[in-house]
Amino acid sequence: MINRKSREEIKLMRHAGHIVALVHQKMKEVVEPGISTKELDNIAMKIIKENRAIPTFLGYSGFPACICTSINEQVVHGIPSEKVTVKEGDIISIDVGATYRGLVGDSAWSYAVGNVSDDIKRLMEATEKSLYAGIDKMRPGNTLNDISGAIEDVAVEYGYGIVRQYGGHGVGHTMHEEPFLYNYRVGDHTLIKSNYAIAIEPMLNIGGDDVEVASDEWTVSTVDKKPSAHFEHTVVATDDGPQIMTKLME
Ligand code: MG
Ligand code: MG
Repeated sequence: MINRKSREEIKLMRHAGHIVALVHQKMKEVVEPGISTKELDNIAMKIIKENRAIPTFLGYSGFPACICTSINEQVVHGIPSEKVTVKEGDIISIDVGATYRGLVGDSAWSYAVGNVSDDIKRLMEATEKSLYAGIDKMRPGNTLNDISGAIEDVAVEYGYGIVRQYGGHGVGHTMHEEPFLYNYRVGDHTLIKSNYAIAIEPMLNIGGDDVEVASDEWTVSTVDKKPSAHFEHTVVATDDGPQIMTKLME
């Protein structure tokens, strides 16, 4: 069953989303050549705790950190480590979750480390564009297939692979609720109703679609080792249009 969120739940999700956005604001500032992914995790942890929230990912199915850091061919679920530093030209995708008074905000962003190639720039542009194309369809009366299709169309326009095994999801009192949202058309004509909350999160690859999980049982990478990008927002469908929860509150 897909839950419709109450006004109070949406208020709390917006607060959780604000904290997630504060983390991303800081990540944008501190991601530079030489920083370790463990340092990024420590910074994120500090911001989440200072804002009286709980890092949603820490301990989730045993995940050992409060953010996921996935570099270059890594797609999602990379584990922060003091042994892993980013270098000039890398792309790093950072996924952040915060739980505030029981409600979850979930948002991922890909960052360029220093100067990156035009190929990476184009990949980031396409993936962000596909996210906003999907968000624009998050309206009562549309279907999940409309969101999936909008994302797929941007990927096709750019000629990129689409990660098929992972996708968006309902979000609220827990990080993963119904429904699952594919990033390509599967003909899911489930109707979107007002106050549905979904984390929309396209993952696009410069190369093919295929991905595999590493021996750490978490890190997902492209099989062809070509770069991947990931952009995600938690979004609520309202009668006034899509409302992004995971952005800074005015
Ligand atoms: Mg996420
Ligand atoms: Mg998510």
